[in-house]
Amino acid sequence: MLFLGENMKKNNKFFVVTYGCQMNKHDSEKIIGLLLSQGYKRAETMEGADIIIFNTCCVRGSAEDRLFGNINSLKLIKDKRQDLIIAVGGCVAQKEGSKLQRKMSHVDVVFGTHNIASLPTLIKEAQKGKIACEVLKSPRDEIKALPVERDNSVRAWVNISTGCNNFCSYCIVPYVRGRETSRSFEDIVAEVKMLASEGFLEVTLLGQNVNSYGRDLYGEIRFAELLRQLNEIDGIERIRFTSSHPRDFNGDIVLALAECEKVCEHVHLPLQAGSDNVLKTMRRGYTKEGYLDLVKKIYEAVPNCSITTDIIVGFPGETEEDFLDTLDVVKQARFDNAFTFAYSPREGTRAFEMENQISKKVKMDNFKRLLEVQNKNSLKNNLVLMEKELEVLVESPSKKKADVLTGRTRTNKVVNFPGPHSLINRLARVKIKEVRSWSLNGELKEVCERESICRL
Ligand code: SF4
Repeated sequence: MLFLGENMKKNNKFFVVTYGCQMNKHDSEKIIGLLLSQGYKRAETMEGADIIIFNTCCVRGSAEDRLFGNINSLKLIKDKRQDLIIAVGGCVAQKEGSKLQRKMSHVDVVFGTHNIASLPTLIKEAQKGKIACEVLKSPRDEIKALPVERDNSVRAWVNISTGCNNFCSYCIVPYVRGRETSRSFEDIVAEVKMLASEGFLEVTLLGQNVNSYGRDLYGEIRFAELLRQLNEIDGIERIRFTSSHPRDFNGDIVLALAECEKVCEHVHLPLQAGSDNVLKTMRRGYTKEGYLDLVKKIYEAVPNCSITTDIIVGFPGETEEDFLDTLDVVKQARFDNAFTFAYSPREGTRAFEMENQISKKVKMDNFKRLLEVQNKNSLKNNLVLMEKELEVLVESPSKKKADVLTGRTRTNKVVNFPGPHSLINRLARVKIKEVRSWSLNGELKEVCERESICRL
């Protein structure tokens, strides 16, 4: 269906630049899907585009500075090409609103995180020379199902909620993504059924806090129920979800994890800190003991579960004793992987104003200490997999060798093995012959047909 006027057809090539998390990457799939459905075309390069769209992230201040640098660098090009449209969406647009156009007059369109649906209209306004900006504080009604141009033909992201009600003291997300808004049960199930009918094998349920899914809409958490329903959909073989919040990861979710054979044995469970003092100032809503108790319950219910985490090192006021608590949790929880960040103050959050900021040297030293412990965990966990046969969803040729394929196990571990490109996007059984901290190498044993998926 084409909605473009004749005079606009020649100026209809767009290029999207995406920053940030999976949520943003999925939003870009919607931006692309929406524009294609309206008759716009994708440009192969930024230089070949008539419309450049930045889908931005503001979680880290340094990334935001880099983004501003990148947008600023287009000013000279815009001076020469007045018909070029520069659009900025995502978290930075949500945070800055029309201020962005006052700071950078060459930005034509600003659209917030709840305004993707308005982008085609905003582009048209800008092409007529009008200032185009739309930033809503919360979704207009329910999260709208927009056309999606997926990046992959067997793995798909599915939004189940947006926003967050938690206001952790270091985090900007609730200010830019708004309050938690769950999408309806029926909508999610319908989307996953449609994906299954199109041949998708894996879905990843996305939300800032997936575990509290449904609370705003139904007055109670319905995440476990959602997992159970999605588990019944024929054709879908793997169900993943991110991000979890330890406080809302209730017993029923643990049970669903064990019961639902399609729900992968992987939980990303952000710890952030192991000390009760730091967890309190972070406003995380759980304790060290509570976190470890949850980890224990997950391992009891799903013994081969892989648990990964996020950790912030050097939060304001963190003492050596506090840090030792974090190391203790890392050892006890036996994480498979930990994404560790040195704390950096984020303007607009409560922690920005906190005293007792930690020196860069202490942060870096502790960062290294944490990494050493975690590397040992990862290698130890992987050594157990030697000579085991694992189900791998093949993703692509490896970056280093064209005749080696790379994919992921149900536990989200990267496996490399020699094999033909025809295996890409298929499930295979691979025997592990070599292990490292961050990846496994193996040999192909069998290609799994859809009817006899080799779940292990
Ligand atoms: S749970 Fe905390 S860290 Fe996660 S998005 Fe919400 S406020 Fe940010």
